[in-house]
Amino acid sequence: MTTYDFCVIDGGIVGVATAHQILTRHPGANLVLLEKASELATHQTGHNSGVIHSGIYYPPNSLKATLCRRGARWTKEFAAAHDIPHRVCGKLLVAADDAEYARMLALHERSITNGVAVELIDAAELARREPRITGVGALFVPDTGIIDFTQVTTALADEVRAAGGEFVLGAEITTLTETADAVTAAGPTGSWSARRLVACAGLQADRMARAAGLRRDFRIVPFRGEYYQLPQERAGLVRTLIYPIPDPELPFLGVHLSPTIDGALTVGPNAVLGLAREGYRKGSFDARDAREILGFTGFHRVARANVRTGLRELRDSLFKRGYLAQCRRYCPELTLADLLPREAGIRAQAVLRDGTLVHDFMIERTERSIHLLNAPSPAATSAMPIAEHIVDQL
Ligand SMILES: Cc1cc2nc3c(=O)[nH]c(=O)nc-3n(C[C@H](O)[C@H](O)[C@H](O)COP(=O)(O)OP(=O)(O)OC[C@H]3O[C@@H](n4cnc5c(N)ncnc54)[C@H](O)[C@@H]3O)c2cc1C
Repeated sequence: MTTYDFCVIDGGIVGVATAHQILTRHPGANLVLLEKASELATHQTGHNSGVIHSGIYYPPNSLKATLCRRGARWTKEFAAAHDIPHRVCGKLLVAADDAEYARMLALHERSITNGVAVELIDAAELARREPRITGVGALFVPDTGIIDFTQVTTALADEVRAAGGEFVLGAEITTLTETADAVTAAGPTGSWSARRLVACAGLQADRMARAAGLRRDFRIVPFRGEYYQLPQERAGLVRTLIYPIPDPELPFLGVHLSPTIDGALTVGPNAVLGLAREGYRKGSFDARDAREILGFTGFHRVARANVRTGLRELRDSLFKRGYLAQCRRYCPELTLADLLPREAGIRAQAVLRDGTLVHDFMIERTERSIHLLNAPSPAATSAMPIAEHIVDQL
């Protein structure tokens, strides 16, 4: 059996960026990338808002704050060099009332600390820029953009193949065995050994960590992000991305209006507990996933601490009227007829046993492997700097 120099598990944007970065630093190395789905970008990478974030929300000096800023720059440059459609349309964070306005001012401070250009605007200026949007004030982030991250992944994968990287699709890894010389990743379709291994398994990251014998006590809790799409004739309703002011306690940004790069206008995503990590249809249920979530103490702690938010999200998921009310806080003219179905995404959110929702990217290692355990938004924007950060430690 060949022993590869490097093995990467993850056909999403972070895994493919990591393979790219490895071959950039080690030209001629032999590398295999293993992905259990039959295509790249099947899970989070192919089901997101497509926003190139700027890095305003995150605590200064966190991995998210530093890697997102660099990632936004890298994403735009890579897209320009590879003719990948993208647009820097800017984003407005809209305060709907005085309490949100106070939180918005805190975000303004944080943006300045994080070195991200922002502009505070008043209600009149907001109405001038986006006449269909209302609020008591807003924060404008000019550098935020939109893109299709699947296209970025495909372009990166083409370069990995051109540099000699091998892709094996349909390869689900269920065991990892590490010896003094190599790590062997194996599953029903085969086994692959490599001197070094990187796993960024997204929604399965905790299972991969357990297979590697990592001690960190956490579980991936899937949070569904349900979207709607506006009728095509309403797609020009806004020019910029429109976001609410987020709850700083939660790692989710709130239901937003997002123009997509292919000309649609979406609204979403909410954040509802999922009972199937990879079940995209509403009501999807997977017995193993449900058992592991509901049997985890950390989940019970999160649930207890967020009962009201959780129930509200569930109600708004079941009854469109509640969902609509969230959007009408900043776009009052939306009606139920505007909310057309669109496929959901599912966030892989790491939760620790003590009930902490992990906000930052989280990485752990063994002697020969590195595991990305928590890579929620803005990990698509930050994919290449995350890859650099991983390869620095490989
Ligand atoms: C609703 C939603 C909205 C988002 N919006 C944005 C946004 O606007 N901007 C942004 O920057 N980020 C956004 N994100 C976050 C972003 O999509 C993810 O952070 C990013 O795609 C993570 O990439 P990844 O490669 O780590 O994970 P994934 O894309 O989930 O890929 C993980 C891959 O590993 C494979 N895998 C798992 N287990 C195994 C195994 N045992 N064997 C083999 N293969 C395995 C899976 O099949 C999967 O393809 C959003 C996410 C969601 C869900």
